Amino acid sequence: MQKLKLSRNLRKSILRGHPWVYGSALEKVGAAKSGEMVQVLDSKGAHLAWAFYDKDHDFALRILSLDKAPPSRAVFAKKLQNALALRLFNAETTAYRLLNGEGDSLPGMVCDRYEDVAVLQFDSEPLEKFWLSQGVVESLQEFFDWTCIINKSRHHKEPVFLKGQLSNSISIQENQVAFSINVLEGQKTGFFLDQRENRQYLSRFSQGKSFLNLFSYTGGFSIYAGVGGARQVTSVDIAPNAIENAHFNWQLNGLEKACHKGVVKDCYEFLKETKELYDMIMVDPPSMAPNEKSKPQAIKKYTDIFAMAAKRLPAEGHLFLSSCSSHINFDDFSAIIDEALSQARRTGRVLRVSGQGSDHPFRHIHPEMRYLKFYHLVLD
Ligand code: SAH
Repeated sequence: MQKLKLSRNLRKSILRGHPWVYGSALEKVGAAKSGEMVQVLDSKGAHLAWAFYDKDHDFALRILSLDKAPPSRAVFAKKLQNALALRLFNAETTAYRLLNGEGDSLPGMVCDRYEDVAVLQFDSEPLEKFWLSQGVVESLQEFFDWTCIINKSRHHKEPVFLKGQLSNSISIQENQVAFSINVLEGQKTGFFLDQRENRQYLSRFSQGKSFLNLFSYTGGFSIYAGVGGARQVTSVDIAPNAIENAHFNWQLNGLEKACHKGVVKDCYEFLKETKELYDMIMVDPPSMAPNEKSKPQAIKKYTDIFAMAAKRLPAEGHLFLSSCSSHINFDDFSAIIDEALSQARRTGRVLRVSGQGSDHPFRHIHPEMRYLKFYHLVLD
């Protein structure tokens, strides 16, 4: 096994469980082969960890284990088993994240379950090669009888079938709510599984209310509000397919067709034009800060849309705000909300602050993967 020495003393951070090392912190890289497991030595040459090495990636090292011996296939299979043991959902929930990369100590690999279909995503081609060579697909098959296993990594133009075939949408259950998921063409692996607990939370407040769901995608929050007894639900998204699917999901749950309105429109335009007030508004924009440089612009976009939404609520109206940009942390988000409410000349009380569901774990020393923010406010 090749050895790699750290030039800077990152010993403490690695021993505390941080899973990434940037290429600039490596000393000798001459002999180490990219795409393989290496032994990581501290700046004094003592053993520190085992890591996956990719010289072309920002995170040149992804820590695989802090043990003395190099991790084997059996060690990785055990980590996978540990992850599965933590997915304690009711039998009515048949879609969730099985593996969350670094958060489950299997860096760079995500696996989502949709009924009996597994959807994998690897962060890069070399990582994909590495994990496949470590038998992760075989390990996955020991725990579930999958009809289909799909690799939907971004570096492939088309999804790759590792087992079986899939041509249709998949019907899943989340709590008591049904959704039809288009794994092959949908965003991410098909659905925003990370909002599950927030969807269920929101539905508790929806009885008898009018609800505006901005950036609705396929209607996740809309359908939960409908099932929770909302009087009228409006879903707005710029993507026609998303709204079409939201209508479909609405009816899949036996909800009254007339009570759901789908609008294909830019949410900023929608809010500029509407004069209507809603009892509850959800704002869940896409990630607007792909990197640190774009952060100031993203903050402005979030502030603008949140302020516009706040103006469309009556006194005691419910405002639900979310952001999935990992470059915007909880402190940033709280400051954005303060500024947005100030611009809208509104004040309010925070009832809940939360984030991603428990099937999206992150390491305590790794806030980069604590990306989802969710706030519930009631305005004065
Ligand atoms: N709330 C959703 C996820 C939202 S993802 C859920 O829980 O499932 C973000 C969505 O915003 C995508 O569906 C995308 O099509 C839509 N979108 C992006 N920019 C938009 C814009 N300017 N106006 C309206 N929708 C937009």
